[in-house]
Amino acid sequence: MADARLGLSEFTHGVVNQARLHDLLLEGMENSVTHLIPHYNRRLLELEVDPNLTQDLEAFPITATFERNDISQSAKVETIKARYVVGCDGARSAVRKNLAIDLEGDSANKAWGVMDVLLVTDFPDIRVKSFIQSKENGAVMLVPREGGYLVRLYVELDLLDKNQRASNLDLNVEDIIAKAQLIMAPYHLDVKEVAWWSIYEVGQRVADRFDDRPVAVADRLIPRAFVAGDACHTHSPKGGWGLNTSLPDTFNLGWKLASVIQGRCKPELLQTYSSERRKVAKMLIDADRQMSSLVATRPKAEQGSPQTKTNTMDIEKFIARQNGFIAGTSIQYDPSYICTGEEHQHLAKGFKIGQRFHSAEAVRISDGRPQHLGHLNKADGRWRIFAFGNEQNPTDSRSEMFKLLEFLKDSATSPIKKYTPENSDIDSVIDLYAVFQQQTLSIEDMPDSLWPAKGKYGLRDYEKVFSTNVDNDIFEQRGIDRASGCMVIVRPDQHIANILPLSAHHELSEFFNHFML
Ligand SMILES: Cc1cc2nc3c(=O)[nH]c(=O)nc-3n(C[C@H](O)[C@H](O)[C@H](O)COP(=O)(O)OP(=O)(O)OC[C@H]3O[C@@H](n4cnc5c(N)ncnc54)[C@H](O)[C@@H]3O)c2cc1C
Repeated sequence: MADARLGLSEFTHGVVNQARLHDLLLEGMENSVTHLIPHYNRRLLELEVDPNLTQDLEAFPITATFERNDISQSAKVETIKARYVVGCDGARSAVRKNLAIDLEGDSANKAWGVMDVLLVTDFPDIRVKSFIQSKENGAVMLVPREGGYLVRLYVELDLLDKNQRASNLDLNVEDIIAKAQLIMAPYHLDVKEVAWWSIYEVGQRVADRFDDRPVAVADRLIPRAFVAGDACHTHSPKGGWGLNTSLPDTFNLGWKLASVIQGRCKPELLQTYSSERRKVAKMLIDADRQMSSLVATRPKAEQGSPQTKTNTMDIEKFIARQNGFIAGTSIQYDPSYICTGEEHQHLAKGFKIGQRFHSAEAVRISDGRPQHLGHLNKADGRWRIFAFGNEQNPTDSRSEMFKLLEFLKDSATSPIKKYTPENSDIDSVIDLYAVFQQQTLSIEDMPDSLWPAKGKYGLRDYEKVFSTNVDNDIFEQRGIDRASGCMVIVRPDQHIANILPLSAHHELSEFFNHFML
């Protein structure tokens, strides 16, 4: 079956090995404005959050104690005082334990072997991501690795006893190979070289909360300590969803934390991390449970076979349904003050409120270049307003678009005027774009706010105005109402926050007033 639904995203669905991804992230951090390099060789021993200080935002309620484990500094203990802490410390998270956050769910663990191998085989689908369920010996998940030869096999081993750890099993790579051969018989696996292998266990569990607030009084408190990634959800490796769910946790939290620390947003915004991402984690665990039960029952060899329940078609259908979930593009956050405007969803049916901005192309009017609008949603902490014009000529002062631009530029209640610090570029907090249906517009006819002068030289930004590509029409593709147009407001994490009519000036102000400072 196709690996990804057509049109799910403008990017090709592919496999990126985690070591490479890790390198890319490190490189990105080092080349960022902060030139961030992780401090390695420190083990968190203890974390304390002083409940008497958590609601004083200037205070440092967190005390973290680390033990150095590099040779020169071995056993040296360091204490760090912090205003916030994010525990991304994996499935056995010390941060989670210190915050007394419980894991809910299935603790009946299963051991899995994993290996990256070079092999010779008569199994025909060796270059296709496959799931092989044997009659009696368990399952293998096969993922062809990049480069054309290397293959990753996830091999189902045994159930573990309560409190037994996979790392304590007396098994090695030879055992994993033997089990894989057993499962895949009558095909042959002749393993020539093992590049890497490991044995690990997984349970399907999700943390009862993703921050330090006690559930009963959560609404009244500002969270100061968070858990993200495997620290708050673990599941089986069948779907390849772990990292794909963990990274977006911190992508959701990162911009919120930055805006609160920089004094741009109200601290209550931090409460939305747990509510938004815990729902996704629960979906992940449910999907994993469904997948596990589908593959745990033997696929039907013959129609009507009494002992078996699952048809391989059911598995295919399930995977197809999960497509958008795995890619992250159909994750939808529940309605809240940062995901609102359902009553105007009909103005742009293809931009689902709460979901990621579904990119489509438009043509930049200053140079005629087609541009994916989704690529304008950079991960830089800024909000974005995409104003899609209606049928009126936007240069006509009676048009809705003209009035909106005037409002945004001049009104005291304009969120752009109100929340952009003095002496900062006009798009430094809220970045405005316009997309028109008309084909005959020129940049010099546009109001100043659509090609603002920026920076110390007052250079014009020519890259904010677009017209629809007649052969590849974004209004058509995303179901945008041609007669009315609309505003699509996009969060710094690329999720759609709100859809409003072009005339909804007051509602636009109210939306931002809810959380901005
Ligand atoms: C074999 C295997 C295959 C997988 N395949 C896939 C896949 O195909 N697709 C996918 O999406 N996901 C996959 N996953 C899941 C994925 O690896 C995890 O979901 C992801 O790594 C979680 O990231 P994380 O940052 O939350 O935690 P981790 O990657 O576990 O990182 C936690 C970090 O915290 C450090 N740490 C822990 N405790 C302390 C302490 N006390 N003090 C200091 N540091 C500490 C650890 O050393 C580690 O560096 C796989 C997992 C495994 C085990």
